[in-house]
Amino acid sequence: MQANSDLFPSLISPVVTRLVPYVPGEQPRIDKLVKLNTNENPYPPSARVIAAIGAAAQQGLQLYPDPESIVLRQAIAARHGLAVEQVFVGNGSDEVLAQAFFAFFQHGCPLLMPDISYSFYQVFCRLYDIPAETVPLTDEMELDVAAYARGAGDSVAGVVIANPNAPTGIGLPLQEVKQLLLLHPNRVVLVDEAYVDFGGHSALALIAHNPNLLVVHTFSKSRSLAGLRVGFACGQAHLIEALGRVKNSFNSFPLDRLASAGAVAAIEDHAYFEQTRHAVMSAREGLVLALEDLGFKVLPSQANFVFVRHPDHDAAGLAASLRQRAVLVRHFKLPRIEQYLRISVGTPAQCTRLVRELDDIFHLPPPSPKERERHTRAPPGPP
Ligand SMILES: *Cc1c(COP(=O)(O)O)cnc(C)c1O
Repeated sequence: MQANSDLFPSLISPVVTRLVPYVPGEQPRIDKLVKLNTNENPYPPSARVIAAIGAAAQQGLQLYPDPESIVLRQAIAARHGLAVEQVFVGNGSDEVLAQAFFAFFQHGCPLLMPDISYSFYQVFCRLYDIPAETVPLTDEMELDVAAYARGAGDSVAGVVIANPNAPTGIGLPLQEVKQLLLLHPNRVVLVDEAYVDFGGHSALALIAHNPNLLVVHTFSKSRSLAGLRVGFACGQAHLIEALGRVKNSFNSFPLDRLASAGAVAAIEDHAYFEQTRHAVMSAREGLVLALEDLGFKVLPSQANFVFVRHPDHDAAGLAASLRQRAVLVRHFKLPRIEQYLRISVGTPAQCTRLVRELDDIFHLPPPSPKERERHTRAPPGPP
């Protein structure tokens, strides 16, 4: 199909034709949908968040917000034992990542990342013309730190990993994160900890001793605020200052008043955070057992999703059958992982529904000869 942007090529910056945008999981409007495809939290945000957003909406929306988001940065810094100069905030962690790629990885040499990881990293590389060099995960889908030893010195632009990794859910021990930091002392090692609150090991404690470490977090998963768009990065002050220069060259006010107020309240309601993340982790353990009972191979997950494959059932076919039953899971048509499904951990009731539908799909009577004939006949419509 002809893209509209091809019609008047002289109107479009040439770089735009090179971009390969990220494709987020679908957000359809289907009745009684069980949505396990985008790793959102199945629980709503804390009531204190809703109250804080309501109060903020009553006052001051005619005024610009604080361009430095000091109150939120202070709340994050206090929660993690950091100084406010060590915290940067943005409009979702995807934006924080985009600014970090701009600030730290444009050295004209390759950025190292796992071959299986968050696909937005490759999108940012295209955007900024950063060569991406993928390092294969092992056959067990684990990150092999020794393989990142290539090109020490200044011949790589840096390293980006997600820990726990996405979409595998597998966590990397802190000792190995330390090894990555030592392998590339003159480049930034970016650790995207979007899922760390569901059982991973955070590298935040390593910031004090590692001037090249940047840790990125989001409020979208463990704080139930995907709709508010708040993410942050932590690192030593020189890195945070560089991010500030990028941000202030692009948008002085990435966080609006409602987002800041809601995010501060989310940090302050620590009890709710603990309660919901533990509910998700406990539902995950039950889901893993139930899926294994159905014959799935489940990778060990430290995240709010599981990455699974079935020896006898095609992953794309399963995703399609589930969708017909109003249960959404994520399937990536990508090398090495096309036989896997990524399933977000829902409430216990949602997990039960998923397992029941899978069980049902597996036990469908085989199609009658007549039905089979109907299915193999070419469907009407364009070739
Ligand atoms: C969800 C996710 C993000 C994006 O989070 P937002 O803050 O919603 O932009 C970043 N990295 C990884 C690995 C994620 O899974």
